[in-house]
Amino acid sequence: MYHPSKIICVGLNYRDHAAELAMPLPVTPIIFMKPPTTIIHENQAIIYPAQTNNLHYEAELGVVIKNRIKGITEAQAAENIAGFVCANDVTARDLQNQDGQWTRAKSFDTFCPLGSRPATGINPDDLGIKLLLNGQVKQQSRTSNMIFKVNYLVAFIASIMTLEPGDVIITGTPPGVGPMRPGDTVAVEIEGVGRLENRVLA
Ligand code: MG
Repeated sequence: MYHPSKIICVGLNYRDHAAELAMPLPVTPIIFMKPPTTIIHENQAIIYPAQTNNLHYEAELGVVIKNRIKGITEAQAAENIAGFVCANDVTARDLQNQDGQWTRAKSFDTFCPLGSRPATGINPDDLGIKLLLNGQVKQQSRTSNMIFKVNYLVAFIASIMTLEPGDVIITGTPPGVGPMRPGDTVAVEIEGVGRLENRVLA
């Protein structure tokens, strides 16, 4: 198990998702954060807040940081990664659109399901990533569609802030985001990384 001091999230990082939204590709990574109080693990419930009417899943690859790092190069990134986990960047889409910035929409308790055991010894740059809602595939892509690759993201974020052991970077979502309802079961599957399943409860 690992205990992040912070979760740094990347917005709009899949070419196929940007195309779906008809958005231009970002020239620098767009980052935001979720507090550690959003974290749940396998089989824990995502709580549907009363303040939203449009709760979305976002399947993402999570990167767990191994060492305290600041100002490293992209070539030094891999040796400072402890492993990879499945992540779900749960988002209150209506609040995100209303607020114009994302803290409220992304920060409710239980809004960051993360796999508890980081997978090691894999190349993160070409993995199948999938989201299933009640067993139906809703998102399906490959991490090779990422605009900014994992090692680049680690170095980019460590050029801004010190990353501590256990900190997590979630690396953006592919096309097909959509709503969840109380009673739904949502699962993120990433090739070589594992499966993360959670129920949604009111
Ligand atoms: Mg996201």
